[in-house]
Amino acid sequence: MPLFGAHLSIAGGYYLAADCAGSMKTPILQMFTKSNNQWQAKKLTQEEIDEFRDHFKSNHLQMAIAHNSYLINLASPKKEVYDKSVEAMAIEMDRAEALGIRYLVMHPGAHLDQSEEKGIAQIARSLDNLLVEKKELQVQLLLETTAGQGSCLGHRFEQLRAILDLMKKADKIGICLDTCHIFAAGYDWVSPQGYEDTFREFDRLLGLNSLKVFHINDSVRALGSRVDRHANLGKGLIGRKPFERLILDERFENHPMILETPPEEVRKDLTWLRRVWNKAQKNK
Ligand SMILES: [Zn+2]
Ligand SMILES: [Zn+2]
Repeated sequence: MPLFGAHLSIAGGYYLAADCAGSMKTPILQMFTKSNNQWQAKKLTQEEIDEFRDHFKSNHLQMAIAHNSYLINLASPKKEVYDKSVEAMAIEMDRAEALGIRYLVMHPGAHLDQSEEKGIAQIARSLDNLLVEKKELQVQLLLETTAGQGSCLGHRFEQLRAILDLMKKADKIGICLDTCHIFAAGYDWVSPQGYEDTFREFDRLLGLNSLKVFHINDSVRALGSRVDRHANLGKGLIGRKPFERLILDERFENHPMILETPPEEVRKDLTWLRRVWNKAQKNK
């Protein structure tokens, strides 16, 4: 069974996110390691780290994933924002490592008014620098496919390929595929043929072995709208059938699949996902 999980709140303590995952009976969780819309964060204390690691264990979790702050923009043409972003990424990598997190998912960045090429080159350069500076860390960075709002990069697989092509340490980088984002970006993975075509294209440009994590969200907005609005499974324009196809795809049998919608509905989605998977095993 894929490792189903959810993005969970750290309000009140990291250990509460682990408890919440435990109460949902999921083997994994995703969380922010600091407030996602503030630059500042107080230092992690040893007590917070130990508490999280204890609860991670007592809830029998297998993997934790972090998502970086929305403020970080490695493609920003504004020097002050860029410098702050690089520093903040380094801090996020340290925090993730301290908490025993396996993957740190990041949005590539928005080039704003500079060109796509410059934005891509800047992302590649800063990632290489970060990977040299933090070479002793185990946590792996994953570039996320985006919906392509405004000047956000990463909505075409080619853009992610271009970032990796400019990097010296591209082999250290993995990919997180968000099903809502690629749909909004224009990848029609809804029909059986569209599904095959989309993953063939992904494989051709990025290699399926670089695909480490899925964010499984339905989309409120239309195919190609380039607007990022998550919906619960079957409540958006993608519908349930493509998600059924995805979770039963043997290529992704052991992949983390994270829901990024509010917790009440996530519980229903988890029930549905497990039911579909279990039913398919009986019919095998
Ligand atoms: Zn996502
Ligand atoms: Zn999103």
